[in-house]
Amino acid sequence: MNILVINCGSSSLKFQLIDSESEKVSAKGLCERIGIEGSQLVYTPAGGEKITTVTPMPDHTQAIKLVLQALTDGKTGVVKSLDEIGAVGHRIVHGGEKFAASTLITDEVIQAIEECNELAPLHNPANLIGIAACRELMPATPMVGVFDTAFHQTMPEEAYMYGLPYEYYQKYKVRRYGFHGTSHSYVSHRAAEVLGQKCEDLKIIVCHLGNGASVSAVKNGKCVDTSMGLTPLEGLIMGTRSGDIDPAIIEFLAHKERKSIDDIMKVLNKESGVLGLSDGLSSDFRDLEDSYHKGEEAGVRTLKTFAYRVAKYIGAYTAAMNGVDAICFTAGLGENGPFVRNMICGYLGYLGISLDEEANCKRGEDVVISTAGSQTKVLVIPTNEELAIARETAALVK
Ligand code: AMP
Repeated sequence: MNILVINCGSSSLKFQLIDSESEKVSAKGLCERIGIEGSQLVYTPAGGEKITTVTPMPDHTQAIKLVLQALTDGKTGVVKSLDEIGAVGHRIVHGGEKFAASTLITDEVIQAIEECNELAPLHNPANLIGIAACRELMPATPMVGVFDTAFHQTMPEEAYMYGLPYEYYQKYKVRRYGFHGTSHSYVSHRAAEVLGQKCEDLKIIVCHLGNGASVSAVKNGKCVDTSMGLTPLEGLIMGTRSGDIDPAIIEFLAHKERKSIDDIMKVLNKESGVLGLSDGLSSDFRDLEDSYHKGEEAGVRTLKTFAYRVAKYIGAYTAAMNGVDAICFTAGLGENGPFVRNMICGYLGYLGISLDEEANCKRGEDVVISTAGSQTKVLVIPTNEELAIARETAALVK
């Protein structure tokens, strides 16, 4: 069955058409600048050239219309008609406590997702617009919602509660939720396959290190802790997000800089992380590595602080699970950054880890990068959230 996977942002829309039997991607692409001047569709059929069409996209319905036209185009399309698309899988950022698993989309489900909007005001409304547009254009096609938060719903109370007045949890559901769940689930299960063991028998730590970054502890196939919280701001130092800070810094800076809470939140989300720590040098780890190798203070300070924070989380999650069998790296930096992986593993001697330097330099494949004698295994597993969404969708639609 052909599954259309949609990841809808406020002004962008990523898509892939995946054959659920062969798990091959037939076509993929991206709509950019939806609702803004200069919008364009970038469409790539499997084995074909990238086609860029600059055309007005006043809203997401128009964007999805163009995607469906591209997929069914007589020359460059990959299906004859929309009837050949068996289901649509939508990535949804926040499912709150309502969704611990993927679900078929119905009117009731849409209402329940809407009720989670205030927990992810930038993302959920955009995801819902994508669902509405697809339902309008493909009314008879089943749709599935796959939630970023669902995999983390198995966290025990002691991992998801904050040390705040309990009434805020009762009234507003202020608690830790975690994100990147589709990736953490996919990578932990794939790691077990690569190791030839059952996920149910393993304690795995997944480090999803991209522009957004999070770590999770997966014990016997279930998430028991993760570094992001009520929002994706908590945890690791990220591209532009601060990760964990003393909350009193917010008040301190608001006074000193005469900024509002909204201004400070913008600083924490958009101007902090490795971008802020490197004094504005870059949020891209390739630039930071260059700077590090030139011996510049900004690069050295930033990479050391970033790696130290990841290592601290690995230590915490080893304690949370009373041990660890495997540590996995994934996402942009996790998959492509042997230098930073090495820096992080440099802190993990107590886990009996030794890296195989040659394996650590491989790219684009599932690979064990620790030596045969390493007490704890270390792996690189390229994440594939679209495939995970397609699998979940196919399973629910069948
Ligand atoms: P993602 O959000 O998963 O797309 O990851 C994006 C991040 O991956 C960017 O900040 C890049 O710095 C990082 N990245 C991508 N390729 C490399 C590479 N070859 N070396 C180091 N970092 C990389």
